[in-house]
Amino acid sequence: MHDHSRRTRTRTRTRTRTRSLTAVVGACAALALSLTACGQNSDGGGNGGGAEGGTIGIAMPTKSSERWIADGENMVERFEAAGYEADLQYGDDKVENQVAQIENMISKGHKALVIAAIDGSSLTNVLGRAEEAGIPVIAYDRLIRGTGSVDYYATFDNFKVGELQARYIVDALKLEEDGGGADEKSNLELFAGSPDDNNTGFFFRGAMSVLKPHIDDKRLVVRSGQTEMNQVTTLRWDGGTAQKRMDDLLSRYYGSERVDAVLSPYDGISIGVISALKSAGYGTKAKPYPVVTGQDAELASIKSIIAGQQTQTVFKDTRKLAEQAVRMTDAVLKDEKPEVNDTESYDNGVKTVPAYLLEPVSIDESNTELLVDEGYYTADQLK
Ligand code: BGC
Repeated sequence: MHDHSRRTRTRTRTRTRTRSLTAVVGACAALALSLTACGQNSDGGGNGGGAEGGTIGIAMPTKSSERWIADGENMVERFEAAGYEADLQYGDDKVENQVAQIENMISKGHKALVIAAIDGSSLTNVLGRAEEAGIPVIAYDRLIRGTGSVDYYATFDNFKVGELQARYIVDALKLEEDGGGADEKSNLELFAGSPDDNNTGFFFRGAMSVLKPHIDDKRLVVRSGQTEMNQVTTLRWDGGTAQKRMDDLLSRYYGSERVDAVLSPYDGISIGVISALKSAGYGTKAKPYPVVTGQDAELASIKSIIAGQQTQTVFKDTRKLAEQAVRMTDAVLKDEKPEVNDTESYDNGVKTVPAYLLEPVSIDESNTELLVDEGYYTADQLK
């Protein structure tokens, strides 16, 4: 099936390329000069020629988080080792940048696109053009929604990420232990990620599958009453936005009470939450920090865990994800079938995208060493 559609796509390629180029020039002219969106070639040639296998376009969301920098670098390295060139672009968390970058990749005739979407639902038009041009698309980490023009998806078990965060809270507060203060109530506040990221719902639903029974039986109390995902999202995963919300929650609902746990879906958000807690006087013997979860095992958060501030994070080995995405892309380009292990979970509204899910791992102060053993960080970095 794939073969056939790719052949059909190739026929329309020249026409599409001309149209796309005009669109790209227009889009680039409209973007401010400060943007690096257009024509930037960070690694590799990006002219569609060069290496034997041609050029792969890699569209990443932002450099403001370590993980995406590592993801990009790891993929460039692996694509080059597999005989391709790589054109790596970062969208600075602005949807229009990412669309312009992808347009540009299509017009340059890149062989395949690997995309971690900024807004999972805003790539329908541009990916329609990729399909017309016969360019396969791999969704990276985040599902691309509302389009049939996405071939495969490489990610982690996103539901499980949320479960790990919530399980950590439940265990740390001893909510399920015999004699673990069965009559005591603990206060919890919830944060979710960016509403336009498909992962946000998976993380939140995974977490709530563990937390909800304890909220229902009133052992866990959300004093703000904000328990619906749309009440607790954090646009673009921004730490500053989370810090403001936490400031507000603490001053409105925690005058005399203490917050015992905060579900945070991402380390950048955790750092913001902890800053707000610190300003409100937490972090002392008399008023210790609550349990604060996270995700990505970013260096700042691992240091924060070692320093006794943040409590937990979820390690997702981005090297393995990059490897998986490169393997998938290479297989598609060689007309082979990429390995998948999930063909049910990721319905994007138009199709269920075949996916390969990797395993996330919970980290707290007791196992930060694992990151050194795995070669993710050096022992010196954690000092
Ligand atoms: C990724 C997380 C990351 C978040 C913010 C999500 O889509 O899966 O690993 O923490 O984006 O960058």
